[in-house]
Amino acid sequence: MIFRQIHAGPMQNFSYIIGDEKSKEAAVVDAGWEIDKLINAAKKEKLEIKKIILTHSHYDHIQKADELASKTNATVYFHEGDSDEIKKLIKNPNIQIHKLKNNDEITIGKIKIKIMHTPGHSPGAICLLAENKLITGDTLFVNAIGRTDLPGGDPLQLFSSLQKLKKLDDGIEVYPGHDYGEIPFSTIGGEKKTNPYFKCESKEQFLNLLGLF
Ligand SMILES: [Zn+2]
Repeated sequence: MIFRQIHAGPMQNFSYIIGDEKSKEAAVVDAGWEIDKLINAAKKEKLEIKKIILTHSHYDHIQKADELASKTNATVYFHEGDSDEIKKLIKNPNIQIHKLKNNDEITIGKIKIKIMHTPGHSPGAICLLAENKLITGDTLFVNAIGRTDLPGGDPLQLFSSLQKLKKLDDGIEVYPGHDYGEIPFSTIGGEKKTNPYFKCESKEQFLNLLGLF
């Protein structure tokens, strides 16, 4: 698997490229900014961008999806829970879209990407598991978590989603949607040790930490 973490835009966003060495197919995860950077990174690996997967509906992750899909003919994937917001930004009627559900699988050549529905930051937020790498969007950051005070946000849902991620193996690598930590990526085990929100065992403790209880 070819995997690239790419810094893009003024809000410390990360986009990702997941590519299959053999078939040369690739998916871009999130397309908020600087799509030429993404196109060039794919080109460098001789990859063809076939799919664009959006972790959630916030503009800093999706505002360039329409342009990138128009340039590459890629299909755009997103969770049905964030569909209304995302559809507003996909203006080109020729772009193919595909709505995702929990546990769906997207294939890139021989690579399987498992979709985990992790609402809380937004109703249709997803995490993507490809081999030993988990792309977490704005659900889980290095030593932090996504906001729950934006429209559609829900702290208790986020708590449940984090419990779901905690069940993954400690060695799974965590690749967030923003470069907010001291390091650009981490592991589930590392977050269990140092992330105060991820460490919380109870809803009460979690809400307390958020200043909501
Ligand atoms: Zn967001």
